[in-house]
Amino acid sequence: MDLSNKVAIVTGGASGIGRAISLSLAKHGANVVVNYNRSADKANALVTEIESFGGKAVAVQADVSQYQDAEKLMQTALDTFGTLNILVNNAGITDDALILRMSEQQFDNVINTNLKGVWNMTKVAAKTLLKSGYGRVINISSVSGVLGNAGQSNYSAAKAGVIGMTKAVAKEFAARGVTVNAVAPGFIESDMTDKLNDEQKQAWQAMIPLKRFGKKEEIAEVVTFLASELGAYITGHTLEVDGGLVM
Ligand code: NAD
Repeated sequence: MDLSNKVAIVTGGASGIGRAISLSLAKHGANVVVNYNRSADKANALVTEIESFGGKAVAVQADVSQYQDAEKLMQTALDTFGTLNILVNNAGITDDALILRMSEQQFDNVINTNLKGVWNMTKVAAKTLLKSGYGRVINISSVSGVLGNAGQSNYSAAKAGVIGMTKAVAKEFAARGVTVNAVAPGFIESDMTDKLNDEQKQAWQAMIPLKRFGKKEEIAEVVTFLASELGAYITGHTLEVDGGLVM
């Protein structure tokens, strides 16, 4: 999978799954725009790490839920690397509560980052992606958007919305050879799963056919595959990377 001379933006690319995606794309030769919202230190450290193995990266602050920030992020990518080929919409938040207790603000915040943020970035990147001669959009959804998850009416709605948007934009971009896909991770070892106690971990793992949580790198490698030439004939698809949970 050779991504030399390809330019990628990874939203929320400084930590968690996004960090693993940024690293993987850079290791395969892409120039990476590492977007962060608040984690400047992590983003700068990641840029240094990528440069240490001869890669090229730049850290850019932007809140993807804000359209003007999305425009700024896209413009910085163009100013730095001249084009854009790969857009990974990874930035996401949770703000869980049962709907009886969830505030309107909790709903709006999650929708604005996880759904509108994906639209904002796709909108500002569209013209360049369609003209660049090689374009890929990869949206990080979730099994919560496929199955629905109690306590996540906001998050499940946003992540299901991302799957619908992926299909709509895939149809719009297909004539220019630009593919648009979603990846729906299941339980991935992360700050979130670290907070579960052993009993909770065992209960969730019992429901996963492969009987373990996934690793961030296992998401990053699937994203890199979809970003590469090898993924050229896949579009509008949602790939569940979940140890068999959705089956
Ligand atoms: P994380 O919290 O470690 O990383 C999310 C990143 O997005 C952070 O760097 C955060 O700063 C950034 N971010 C948040 N709001 C932003 C905004 N408005 N603008 C720009 N950046 C913003 O979470 P993660 O577990 O690595 O999740 C990454 C993606 O994977 C998310 O979309 C999440 O919904 C999805 N996902 C995660 C899991 C899991 O098990 N961890 C499972 C399914 C889906």
